[in-house]
Amino acid sequence: MDWNGRGRDACRRRAQRIARRVDLGERRVDNGQHILLGAYAQTLSLLRTVHGGRAEHELFDRRRLHLEQPGVFRLKTAPLPAPWHLATALLTARGLSRSERLSTVAFVRRLRRGRYRCAAQLTVSTLLADQPDAAVTLLWEPLCIAALNTPIEAASAQIFLNVLRVAFAAHARDSDVLIPRIDLTALFPAPAAAYVGTHAGEVRLGETVSRLTPDADGVHVETQAREEHFAAALIAVGPHQLADLLAPQPGHAASIAVAQVGAFAYEPIRTIYLQYPGPLRVPAPMLKLDSDPGQWLFDRGQLGGATGLAAVVISTDVAAGQVEQGVLASAIDTQLRRLIADLPPPVWEQTITERRATYACTAGLVRPAPGALQPHLYLAGDYTDAEFPATLEAATRSGVAAARQLLASLHA
Ligand SMILES: Cc1cc2nc3c(=O)[nH]c(=O)nc-3n(C[C@H](O)[C@H](O)[C@H](O)COP(=O)(O)OP(=O)(O)OC[C@H]3O[C@@H](n4cnc5c(N)ncnc54)[C@H](O)[C@@H]3O)c2cc1C
Repeated sequence: MDWNGRGRDACRRRAQRIARRVDLGERRVDNGQHILLGAYAQTLSLLRTVHGGRAEHELFDRRRLHLEQPGVFRLKTAPLPAPWHLATALLTARGLSRSERLSTVAFVRRLRRGRYRCAAQLTVSTLLADQPDAAVTLLWEPLCIAALNTPIEAASAQIFLNVLRVAFAAHARDSDVLIPRIDLTALFPAPAAAYVGTHAGEVRLGETVSRLTPDADGVHVETQAREEHFAAALIAVGPHQLADLLAPQPGHAASIAVAQVGAFAYEPIRTIYLQYPGPLRVPAPMLKLDSDPGQWLFDRGQLGGATGLAAVVISTDVAAGQVEQGVLASAIDTQLRRLIADLPPPVWEQTITERRATYACTAGLVRPAPGALQPHLYLAGDYTDAEFPATLEAATRSGVAAARQLLASLHA
């Protein structure tokens, strides 16, 4: 892999998804704006490990959940224990009528009573069937798209409920939003590689594995450069890259996993960066937009990045995001002008489209589990976590679970 988007063509093709910094001449941006939740326990624990004593506030801007679409909608969690922080936020939400607010509170109480469980085949839009239109449009749908990157008509209600449960049910700070202050490569892959290097491991960048063949004693690993034998291997590639690595073995768990991911659909995420000559003068570093066409605005200037750098995110395959890049950037600029008075013209723009940003987290989707595929061969990756949608937390949870199984087998 090559996480800075440089290097050999094969690596560039394969390294499409990894959360990383992209170097564009003198400018550096991420391949997409990422946010974390306070509930991302595994990811935050790994970050503490690889960053040693570095304070969290150097890595993240952490705030209580505050969703704001200026002049239209506002939901701000209160400094109260869970679930009162959410109940108060819903009861005081701006942009919803009194009866709409009461309806959302009743809905959340129903979810709690049902322990956030529902049928695997249920979609988010069916789950929300009795919710007022305004609550769906202003609150639930944006939350679902941000968390699952899947339209509510197809999205898995159970995975959405899992996210609501981990964010809101236990501790008030679980719903905090953490926005990286440093680039994504500096946030995790670079310090993680350094940590591995100082703990008797080795990270090889730019080396593509072409085939993994388990045998009685371990696994043969072939790359373009060499062939080696290891006691075990843990595969953590994207789901669309899995089939390339494994020879078909009908009936084996590895082939079943390949068949399962073969049925996946994928959703894109577009991040449009616009550099303005001065500060953006917006009230918060993260704002909800009206989806015409941008969905969320991040003011990178308030997050330790370049002053005046706007990152605007469009998730899922919405028609508004499919236009040609220059047209899209100009539509985003027009959208930002509706929000920010006297905005000067941007001096630079760049759109980054991750076409397979995440698997489509659809209702009833059958996915492989993290862990042993067969003796000596293990699987991890965001798509294998049963609880979270395709997120950093799903990736780290599955990686740690699979690594524990692998280590236990070596020491058995
Ligand atoms: C634009 C965008 C925005 C996102 N926003 C958020 C967000 O706000 N919050 C959040 O939590 N998540 C977000 N995500 C999702 C998150 O980035 C992913 O869930 C996570 O990075 C997946 O990690 P992974 O390790 O499972 O897979 P990947 O990151 O895809 O890593 C797979 C790795 O395997 C390597 N590889 C593939 N094939 C081979 C091979 N044959 N040999 C060697 N190496 C190989 C690849 O180069 C890559 O490095 C976003 C994703 C994108 C694209």
